[in-house]
Order: sequence, then C-alpha cells, then structure tokens
Amino acid sequence: MDAVEHGVVTSLCDICPKPGNCCKKLTLSTGPGEYITFWKDDGFAAAEARMEEWKLPFVPIEINHTFTDDQTGSEYVDYYYSCPKLLPNGRCGIYDDRPALCRSYQPGADGLCVFHANGALRQPVKHGNRSTRQIKKLARSILQIADRPR
Ligand code: SF4
Ligand code: SF4
Repeated sequence: MDAVEHGVVTSLCDICPKPGNCCKKLTLSTGPGEYITFWKDDGFAAAEARMEEWKLPFVPIEINHTFTDDQTGSEYVDYYYSCPKLLPNGRCGIYDDRPALCRSYQPGADGLCVFHANGALRQPVKHGNRSTRQIKKLARSILQIADRPR
C-alpha cells in the first residue's frame, strides 16, 4: 500500500486523491449482500463486542440496512463502521499489525476505493485536470505495472 520505489508508483494508494477513504466508512459482509447483522434493540454494543471478539479495530457508526425477521417481527441491522486507527494523513496507524482483512484488500476492488469503476469515480468529478475517464485509464495502467514481476 505504500511503495514508491525509485520514483515508480507501485500501488494505486500512492496516487490516491482521498487517502484512507477506504477506512472511513465501510461495511462488513461474508459475501455479496451477506452482511454481518445484529438485533437492532442491542444497539452498537453487540457490534462492538463482535469487533472485540474478532480483534478488528472497527467502530460501528450508523445503520446501513434494517431487516425484519419473518417469524418474530423483530428488526435486525447491519452497520457502517469507521476505523479509529486511520491517521490524519490517511495512512494506517497500525500498518504492520493491520487485520488480514485490510492486508488482502485490493485497491480498486469495490466501491470503497475511489478508483473503483462503480464507485466515486463514476460520478462526474474532476481530479486536477484529469477527467474521470483519464483517471480510470491511469489506474488500469498502474495496476498492470504493479502486477508485473520485477
Ligand atoms: S485502497 Fe483506494 S481509497 Fe484506499 S487509500 Fe488506496 S487508493 Fe485510496
Ligand atoms: S486497520 Fe489500517 S488499513 Fe485497516 S481500516 Fe484501519 S486504518 Fe485502514
């Protein structure tokens, strides 16, 4: 996530227009649409306990979806989380000890990353004087460079 070797960009994160964007508001799931849920009445406490149990630094910040249990009518929810380990400069404060989940995250893999095709860059935004299309093209070429064996 942090390598600029001999002036060569080796990760999208090195040119990220919003460093740490991926750590500010995230959801947790076991697969597409398979969110980690909790009974709504338990508030944040159940999610906080689960994060502690799973040794994840994330903190629930707001409800993402609310569902209703067909049998009991009780509501259950999944949350958005933020990470308090994110430093003001957008870097990870526990980089060497960050969770496996963070280690395995591929920049551009989903809407959490500003370089994801279906995420923020799909909006008509500008970055410097580059258009959205140019940034995506740049992102693709850099990913290819980063994937090359050295
Ligand atoms: S994963 Fe994406 S959003 Fe996160 S720092 Fe890297 S480039 Fe930026
Ligand atoms: S542990 Fe580090 S990489 Fe993972 S979400 Fe927190 S700040 Fe981001």
